[in-house]
Amino acid sequence: MRGRRDSTDSLRRHFYRGSRLVGHTVRWAFLTLGALTASSVLFVYLYSVNEEVYDPSLFAIGVGGLFAASCGAILLLVNSNRKFRAELRRSLTRCELLADRNWELQEAEERAKSLLETQGDLIVRRDAEGRITYANDAFCALAGQSQQSLLGSTTTLDVLEHDNFTPLPDGTRLHDQKIMSMAGARWVAWREVIVRVDGNDRTEVQSVGRDITDRVNAERALGEARDAAEAANRAKSRFLAVVSHEIRTPLNGILGMSELLLDTPLTPEQTTYVRAAKTSGDALLSLIEEILDFSKIEAGKLEMAARPFSLFTLIEEVVELLGPRAQAKGIEIASDVDERLPACMMGDDARLRQVLLNLAGNAIKFTEVGGVSVIVERGAQPDEVVFLVRDTGIGIMPEQRVRIFLDFEQADSGSTRKFGGTGLGLAISKRIVEHMGGSIDVESIPGQGATFRVAMTLKRADTDEPIFVAPELAASNVLIVAPTSVAASLLARRLSRWGARILIAPETTAAESLQEQAWDAVIVDHALGSAVTASFAAKIGNKPARRIVLVTPSERQGLAALKDAGFTGYLVKPVRAASLKTQLVASNTFEGAVLTSASAIDEQPDAKTADARKGFKILIAEDNKINALLARSLIAKLGHWPTGAANGTMALDAWRTARSAGAPYDLVLMDLHMPGIDGLEATRRIRAAETETGRRTPIIALTANAFSEDREACLAAGMDSFLVKPLDREQLLAVLNLLSKAAQMAA
Ligand code: ADP
Repeated sequence: MRGRRDSTDSLRRHFYRGSRLVGHTVRWAFLTLGALTASSVLFVYLYSVNEEVYDPSLFAIGVGGLFAASCGAILLLVNSNRKFRAELRRSLTRCELLADRNWELQEAEERAKSLLETQGDLIVRRDAEGRITYANDAFCALAGQSQQSLLGSTTTLDVLEHDNFTPLPDGTRLHDQKIMSMAGARWVAWREVIVRVDGNDRTEVQSVGRDITDRVNAERALGEARDAAEAANRAKSRFLAVVSHEIRTPLNGILGMSELLLDTPLTPEQTTYVRAAKTSGDALLSLIEEILDFSKIEAGKLEMAARPFSLFTLIEEVVELLGPRAQAKGIEIASDVDERLPACMMGDDARLRQVLLNLAGNAIKFTEVGGVSVIVERGAQPDEVVFLVRDTGIGIMPEQRVRIFLDFEQADSGSTRKFGGTGLGLAISKRIVEHMGGSIDVESIPGQGATFRVAMTLKRADTDEPIFVAPELAASNVLIVAPTSVAASLLARRLSRWGARILIAPETTAAESLQEQAWDAVIVDHALGSAVTASFAAKIGNKPARRIVLVTPSERQGLAALKDAGFTGYLVKPVRAASLKTQLVASNTFEGAVLTSASAIDEQPDAKTADARKGFKILIAEDNKINALLARSLIAKLGHWPTGAANGTMALDAWRTARSAGAPYDLVLMDLHMPGIDGLEATRRIRAAETETGRRTPIIALTANAFSEDREACLAAGMDSFLVKPLDREQLLAVLNLLSKAAQMAA
């Protein structure tokens, strides 16, 4: 304020000084004029007196003229004096205004300066030669020098670490530096910008730095904590993998031995106990597998394969695998796959099977009456496939529908809960489905059932696999006599898609429906009971050409009687599309009608004896004594000649000895993990040795880990296939059958 008053006062002083100057000038002008007039008059008088030419009129004119000239000059002076004063006043006002502005600018500058000086951020400006033109207090403090010594110098800070420059679209550059300062090492985040100075003639680089040491330290501490947590998590996953593998090995022994024991003569009581031990072992095995899977997902090691697979086969295998479990509970399981979907698709069939087995397994677990259907149909999006697993069980309350997909969550988690399980199955399934780019959700009416829906994109695969062609049944009428069951409704669904006209009739109205019109085929569900089925067969007589009975695998003993009762064919539940087609289209016989895998074992009753007659020489490389005993016993029981080797070296020796003796092994079953030379290395060495002779011994891996990486490692080492432990009789039989077929072809 004082500065402003001072400048106004000085202006005013200037003004008064100026006006006094004007007054003096006017007074001097008057005096000068007066003097000039007087001297002119005097001059004229003297001149007239001397020359005696005095002419009063001339004199008067002269004096008058001079006086007029003086008055005019005076008037001009007065006028210009007035203008000058007005101008002066305006200037004074302008000056006052300018003084105000000037004062304001000074204040703003001072404020800005003090702000810059007291900034916590570092501010430094350098010219084109790198000389400092400005440095604020914070910069001076960090550099440990005074402003005077910094200005004009090219001082730089001591940089310990730095990262790359990040340019921004507006030309600003960002970078972080670790700087050694008087107060120790500090991290500074710099923001550099080019500024123009001196009317744009020169440019300077203005750097503003913020001390981010605390943030960087916190981030580093967080990163270290995260790394430590991840390392701990990895260690936990490794631990889980190792432990579950270790548990699985003896468990496989227990399961295998129980199976062998069940094949020996036992009293009914002993059979019950052994079955109970085996069931518990199976439950424990699936629990361990779930935990192992979960730990793999946790460790981010879930890898998806992309290989061609048949969706139809996959679904039929899933329901066939779960069929016995459902039938043991007195409920049904059936599937229906829309045959308009591509026969062969690309994806990870093993993981998809795992998800569907979990969903359908849960559906069976939580259903007491009715059944489970697995339906696959086309989705709304291109290449989208929708899997529906529907049950008629207890259902899920709305508030539990999100929770059950979380880790270790169950709808009923109280201590009195009725159903076992870990609560991991759905969490694993959700992650697998999401990993495949799909989604999973559930709809349910509590007390009436639940429908789990999985939708994902699956691309068609180009393969030479034979495609299932749906039969054309447009002119056919099919009567299904069945209680309201899952199997019958899915059968009807499939037949309608194939073009047939379907009527599902319950037992009460079936006879009536039979008379109503001519039928091309009648399908009777044996679930109505043996007596009802037989009596209905009698009613049908031999009118429709195709009279088919639906049975469960356990009802197969009564097939002869059913044939005698008048049925022309039978279908085993869960019904395969190909079997149904054969029954309805091909000219079949009663015996040739069954194609489900449930009957596969019985279809090859001679397999055992056929192989037994020949008997393969099989080398079993297995370090675990119990597993080795199990494999040897199974193989011997199937009529082959097993030889054991307790490690890779022994296996290699045994293989070489047999080969040089001219009696090579027909098959090697190779455990993967053995002391010394492991299974993969032993296989590599066998394959290398074989290049000399050209004769190839089939080698099949025995592994407790059925993951894709293990499988790939086996194939890469030169193995032909792999069997998952515990050694399963059917799987082993399938391998031996393949071997005998290959042997027959070679002969
Ligand atoms: P688990 O079956 O081992 O308990 P899941 O993750 O597979 O674990 O299932 C979690 C929970 O979801 C189950 O405990 C059950 O409460 C509920 N649930 C899953 N499927 C069904 C179903 N089909 N019907 C009713 N409840 C179900």
